[in-house]
Amino acid sequence: MDNRNDFEAASASEVLSWAIDTFGESFAIATSFQREGMVIVDLASRISSSVRVFTLDTGRLPDETYQILETVRQRYGINVELVFPERAEVEQLVTIHGPNLFYRSVPGRERCCDVRKVRPLARKLETLKAWAAGLRRDQSDTRSAVPKVERKEGRVKIHPLADWTGAQVEEYIARHKVPVHPLYARGYTSIGCAPCTRAVEPGESERAGRWWWEEDAKKECGIHFAADGQVRRAQAQEDEMHKGFTLWFTGMSGAGKSTISRELELRLRERGAKVEVLDGDVVRTHLSKGLGFSKDDRDENIRRIGFVCDLLSRNGVIAIAAAISPYRAVRDEVRAQIPNFVEVFVECPVDVLAERDVKGLYKRALAGEIPHFTGISDPYEAPLSPEVTVNSSLESPAESVEKIWATLERLGLVSFDRSALTH
Ligand code: SF4
Repeated sequence: MDNRNDFEAASASEVLSWAIDTFGESFAIATSFQREGMVIVDLASRISSSVRVFTLDTGRLPDETYQILETVRQRYGINVELVFPERAEVEQLVTIHGPNLFYRSVPGRERCCDVRKVRPLARKLETLKAWAAGLRRDQSDTRSAVPKVERKEGRVKIHPLADWTGAQVEEYIARHKVPVHPLYARGYTSIGCAPCTRAVEPGESERAGRWWWEEDAKKECGIHFAADGQVRRAQAQEDEMHKGFTLWFTGMSGAGKSTISRELELRLRERGAKVEVLDGDVVRTHLSKGLGFSKDDRDENIRRIGFVCDLLSRNGVIAIAAAISPYRAVRDEVRAQIPNFVEVFVECPVDVLAERDVKGLYKRALAGEIPHFTGISDPYEAPLSPEVTVNSSLESPAESVEKIWATLERLGLVSFDRSALTH
C-alpha cells in the first residue's frame, strides 16, 4: 500500500498490519479506552502479540478508566504505557487559575487540555514514527474528513476505523467479546476526563457529553486537530483581524512574572486574542535546553526568546515573555528588533522574595552558598524606562494586570471599552 487510494480501500486489519510491519516498535496505538480504541487494540493484538499501546493520564481521569486499563493489561498482556503531563506545568496552571478553569472559558479549557493532553502527546510522539487513533468520520463535523492514513509533522497517523459506523463498532465488540469501558453502561457515549464528560440524553449527539457547556464546533481538545484541522483554520481567520505585539516581563526570580503574565494571558484570550506565553522556566526545557547560567548563556536564552516573540508578533500573535532577563543590554537588543515591544518591570524587594521562597534559595544565596544567583551574587539590572512597572509586594496580581491593561490601552494596543481588541 503506498498511496491514499490503497489505504482507503483497505480494511482496518490491513491498515494495522501495514503499520505494524512497516514501523514495528516505532508504532503505537493511542487510546483512552473508548469503544473504538478497544476495537483497535483487539484487532492489533490478533496481528502482533507485542503491539504498543499508550494512554494520556491527565490526572483528571475517572476511576473507571483505570479499571478498563487494568482489564486491557490482563486480557491482552499489554503493558499499557501511561503518559503524564509535566508536573511543573500542571502546578503552575492550577496555582494560577485553579483546578477547574475549564468551566470558566474556552481559552481556559484549551489551556488545561494543552498542558494535560496536547503537550504530553507531542512529547510521546517524538519517540514514535507512526501512531493510531480511533477517530470515525461520522462522530462529528470536525472528524468528517479524516483519512485512514495521513502524514503529519514527519510521522504517520492512522485511523483504521475512519469509515466505520457506530453500529459496526458495536457489532465487532459483541462478536469478539471485547471489554468495554464501564461508563458506557451509565449512559456515556464518549469518555475523557471526569469533570469534562457526562452521560448523554436520548437523541443527543455522540460527543454531546464532552465539554457539554461549549458549542459543538469547538469540541476538540487539540490532540487530533492542532496542526492542520478546521479548528485552526477558523482561528487563523480570526487572527487576521489582530496585530501582534510583545509584552516582555522582567524581574527577579519569584517576583510574580509568571503569575501576572498568565492572568493577563487569560484576559486577552477571553477577548478573542491569540496569545502565546514564553515562560523562562519552560523555555529552558526545550528551546534553550542545554544552556547554563553564565552571562553568555543567559544572553543567548534571551535572544532565542526574543526571536520567537518577534516571529509571533509579526504574525498577529500577542507574545508574552516571562523571563528574569537580568541584563539590560540584551533586553534593549531584543527591544530594538521587535516592533510594538512593551517592557513590564515586575518589582519586588529582596526581603519579600526571600520570605516567599519556600525552597530557601534566596536565603542560601544571601549566605553566599549559591554563586551566580540573580540579584544576590549576580547582577539584576532593572530597566531604566519600562513601559510599565508593577510591584508585587504592594499590589495583587489582579491590580498589576489592571495597570498593564491601562498601559496597553494608552499605547492603543487594546480597546478602550475592554470588550474587544482593536489592534
Ligand atoms: S478534558 Fe477537561 S480536565 Fe481534561 S485536560 Fe481537557 S479541560 Fe482539562
